[in-house]
Amino acid sequence: MSINIENLDLLEDKIITCKKCSRLVAWREEVAQVKRKAFLKWDYWGKPVPGFGDPRARVMVVGLAPGAHGSNRTGRMFTGDGSGDFLFPALFNAGFANQPNAVSLDDGLILNDMFITAVCRCVPPGNRPTRDEIQNCKNYLVKEIQIIKPKILVALGKIAFDGLRGIFPGIKSNCLFVHGAVYPINDHQTLVCSYHPSRQNTQTGRLTKEMFAQIWNKVSL
Ligand code: SF4
Repeated sequence: MSINIENLDLLEDKIITCKKCSRLVAWREEVAQVKRKAFLKWDYWGKPVPGFGDPRARVMVVGLAPGAHGSNRTGRMFTGDGSGDFLFPALFNAGFANQPNAVSLDDGLILNDMFITAVCRCVPPGNRPTRDEIQNCKNYLVKEIQIIKPKILVALGKIAFDGLRGIFPGIKSNCLFVHGAVYPINDHQTLVCSYHPSRQNTQTGRLTKEMFAQIWNKVSL
C-alpha cells in the first residue's frame, strides 16, 4: 500500500480513521471504554495516534506505539504517561521542547526542530504489536519521512530500530541496536539508537537521565 498524500494534515486524517488491524481496533476501543481508575473522568482518545511536532524538523524521533492510558487517552504521542514524563524534560533541556511536561493536547507544548512519531499508531495489548501490525502501519511512517525529510532519525528501542531498518535498505545488516550507536542511512540521513524511555527501562536504571541526555546532545545543533 503506498499513500498518495503530500500534506501532513491530510496524512493525519488518514491515520486517525484507520481500522486496518482488527485486533488493535478492538483493544484501543476497549481500553478507552474501561479506562484506568485515575482517569475515569477522561474522554479517552481511543483512536490511532498521529505523529506531531515541527513539520520542518531536522530530527525525527520514532517510538514504539501509544501507551494504553497515555497517548491512547490523550491523543498525542508520549503524552500523559511515564515514558513522556522521562522524555519531555530531556527534550526541554536540549532545546527541542518549549516546556518539560506533556499532559494533554491543549497543554501548550511546542516542539522545535523535532517531530515525534512511532512504528505503530494503535495501542497494542502488552505493548507488543505483531509483525503484521507494524507492517500494516509502515507506510504512514514512510510517508511522514518523505514529507518531513529529517536528517536524523532517533530510534527509541529495538522495535523502532527494526522498523526503520525495514524502511531503509541502506542500514547495513551488521548494524546492531546499541544505545548511543550512530549509523549512516544514506548520504543525507543518519540513524541514532536509544533505549526506549519506558518505565521498565528508566526505573531499573537501564536508561538513566545522563544516558538519555547524551542522545539529545548528540543530535542537537
Ligand atoms: S496500527 Fe496502524 S495500520 Fe493498524 S489500525 Fe492502527 S493505524 Fe491502522
